[in-house]
Amino acid sequence: MATTPNRVAMLSVHTSPLHQPGTGDAGGMNVYIVELSKRLAAQGTEVEIFTRATSSDLPPLVELAPGVLVRHVTAGPYEGLVKEDLPGQLCAFAHGVLRTEAGHRRGWYDVVHSHYWLSGQVGWLAADRWGVPLVHTMHTMAKVKNAALAEGDCPEPAARIIGESQVVEASHRLIANTREEAEQLALHYGARSEQLAVVHPGVNLEVFRPATATPTGAVGDAVSHIRARLGLPRDAVVLLFAGRIQPLKAPDVLLHAVGLLLEEDPHLRDRLVVPVVGGPSGSGTAEPEALQKLAAALGISDVVRFQPPVGQRELADWYRAATALVMPSHSESFGLVALEAQACGTPVVAAAVGGLPVAVRDGETGFLVRGHDPRDWARVLRRYVDRPGLAERQGRAAARHAAAFGWDTAARATAEVYRESAWSLQRAAVASAS
Ligand code: UDP
Repeated sequence: MATTPNRVAMLSVHTSPLHQPGTGDAGGMNVYIVELSKRLAAQGTEVEIFTRATSSDLPPLVELAPGVLVRHVTAGPYEGLVKEDLPGQLCAFAHGVLRTEAGHRRGWYDVVHSHYWLSGQVGWLAADRWGVPLVHTMHTMAKVKNAALAEGDCPEPAARIIGESQVVEASHRLIANTREEAEQLALHYGARSEQLAVVHPGVNLEVFRPATATPTGAVGDAVSHIRARLGLPRDAVVLLFAGRIQPLKAPDVLLHAVGLLLEEDPHLRDRLVVPVVGGPSGSGTAEPEALQKLAAALGISDVVRFQPPVGQRELADWYRAATALVMPSHSESFGLVALEAQACGTPVVAAAVGGLPVAVRDGETGFLVRGHDPRDWARVLRRYVDRPGLAERQGRAAARHAAAFGWDTAARATAEVYRESAWSLQRAAVASAS
């Protein structure tokens, strides 16, 4: 076994790095795996990402970037399975992963890095079989989610909690997004301190950067052009929601707050726009039109604009066009959109949950709001209406803050976790042999 890993088997059972994020099961984890893998490869660690094939058209192997391969594993029917069905396909998936490795020389993979508990279950078996370390990233935890459910939302099942606990026990290292997540892993799942490593995720600073001044004009002109292209009025207050539409992300709190703002100040209606960029996901798929219905019930359908998910470059323009990004989430393991918007020079108003207090500097790069009372959210959002210059001032600070979160840093720290875990496994093997 190499002590400096050359090749990692990255496991992403339930969602593919090739899927469009922002709807269904594709979100921050997909972006995380793509960006991390590309930077690991650029720094000398090859990556092979295993994901479940969801169409017969998919080739078994796709090169995502130099040094990054995506392997489509057949495990169950291509269509018709939802994430909740996948525990029944883990054996088939593990079979595909083990068969792939068996086709190579011994020691092909130096480390397994699994994402989300379903992949962790497969990683547990593969790492044990190959005698390599299992590094696992939870992304979300059932116990944490269940403790912060939106009203009426469905709790995660006990089977997931059992599965997560097994993965925690089997992992050599657990990568947490933040110190808080590491503490939750210890508190709720009994993770030992020597297992835990904190690596902040990153943001693609080439894609997500502030609008640049046009050759003939100022930055403001560039933003005006972007707004015109997106069909947004030049002088509007634009309060953006971006991401998967599900009760956990609480876009309803934003809509209620907007309803209150307009009640207090009906003149605002002419210059307030609330784009919602993303598609239904999770328990939000049960009633995909729920948010549209809420907008209608609140009498704000003319202000709220629903936009299906867009690619990352297009999303960067939505961030640049926004006065502020609004994230009223009940729970968020990190919240990549908070970093992305800030990297584009846009402040973020976020719930003080999960990784968001790390991502957002309260009062400096946006605001953190405690709780989900729409009156509190309306009060904070009102500041961007009343204080000209606030969004620009915070936006400049936000871009500086986000610049510290490049994926290169995250990839280097992750490679270090791989190295350490390989070392400790080797030391343990030597100790047990003597
Ligand atoms: N996203 C996207 N297009 C969209 C909406 C979202 O590509 O229309 C991406 C966004 O860039 C971000 C991810 O989806 O990287 C959402 O990640 P986040 O951590 O905010 O939330 P998660 O989906 O993990 O809950």
